[in-house]
Amino acid sequence: MILLKGKEVSLKIKEKLANRIEKLKSKNIIPSLAVIIVGDNPASKLYVASKVKTFKKMNCYSKTFELPFKISSHELIELILKLNDDDNYHGILVQLPLPKHLNEENILEIIDSKKDVDGFHPKNQGFLMQGRPTFIPCTPLGCIKIIEHYNIKTEGKNVVVVGRSNIVGKPIASLLSQNSNFGNATVTLCHSKTKNLEKFTSEADIIIAAVGVPELINKNMIKKGAHIIDVGINRVDDNTNPKGYKVVGDVNFENVKDKVESITPVPGGVGIMTVTMLLYNTIQAAENLSK
Ligand code: NAD
Repeated sequence: MILLKGKEVSLKIKEKLANRIEKLKSKNIIPSLAVIIVGDNPASKLYVASKVKTFKKMNCYSKTFELPFKISSHELIELILKLNDDDNYHGILVQLPLPKHLNEENILEIIDSKKDVDGFHPKNQGFLMQGRPTFIPCTPLGCIKIIEHYNIKTEGKNVVVVGRSNIVGKPIASLLSQNSNFGNATVTLCHSKTKNLEKFTSEADIIIAAVGVPELINKNMIKKGAHIIDVGINRVDDNTNPKGYKVVGDVNFENVKDKVESITPVPGGVGIMTVTMLLYNTIQAAENLSK
């Protein structure tokens, strides 16, 4: 079994990114990201902290705008509009989820699509669907980079994506079905209303699990020799762990590991790639905007 290590892929990509950062620096440009976080959701704070850390390590700039939970939609939009016009920032990211009183779809649409490094703007998602150059959302892009790095062939393969969110499931399904080097697969998109999920997963050469249900997929649901990309990040109680919990994926790793050809571990798989791809998209934005 081959362990698809996100860290290994991430290091390789960061080496290449370092050259691009240097090139930009020679033109007095430092890739810069504005991160907006509303309220104090502990998980969101953790994600933002790891993004900030990565930018700092790579000598890029990021500024976090911490806004109170009760901020009005008007005030949040004002800030985004200001950042859209501010040449000091190449990327703008609004950390999700937002509090219920703020309409995520409307807010994300305000971000200038040229600075939309998360790739959630409907214009960029439309471009992605058409196979045009755009910002690909960080997690699906991270999955593609893992597939490319480990040379997992997708052409003509049966891929099953489990989960149809706009930020993971739908974009990865679209990317893998496109006529491109990393695409040309026959993709089936499964979701919560899919009847008999195992009927689909057991036929798959490649499974992308983006569900949010701890260890949903077990060895009885997969084909021998399948490749598995496990996007899930789920906290489950664990009394043996000093933290009181452990993090598991959507796939039961221990249960499937002897049957698969390759698999991403959780943690240590897709998660780390997501942050690296944010850096990747921000560098791309800086290059595009400096032209
Ligand atoms: P989501 O809640 O938006 O979507 C989950 C999807 O799973 C839905 O489309 C739903 O139809 C489907 N689903 C739910 N139960 C199902 C079932 N029993 N059978 C089949 N399909 C089912 O989630 P999301 O934002 O796409 O995230 C999915 C998982 O990926 C979560 O665990 C999340 O934490 C993780 N995630 C990880 C990263 C990363 O960086 N690794 C990034 C984003 C999300």
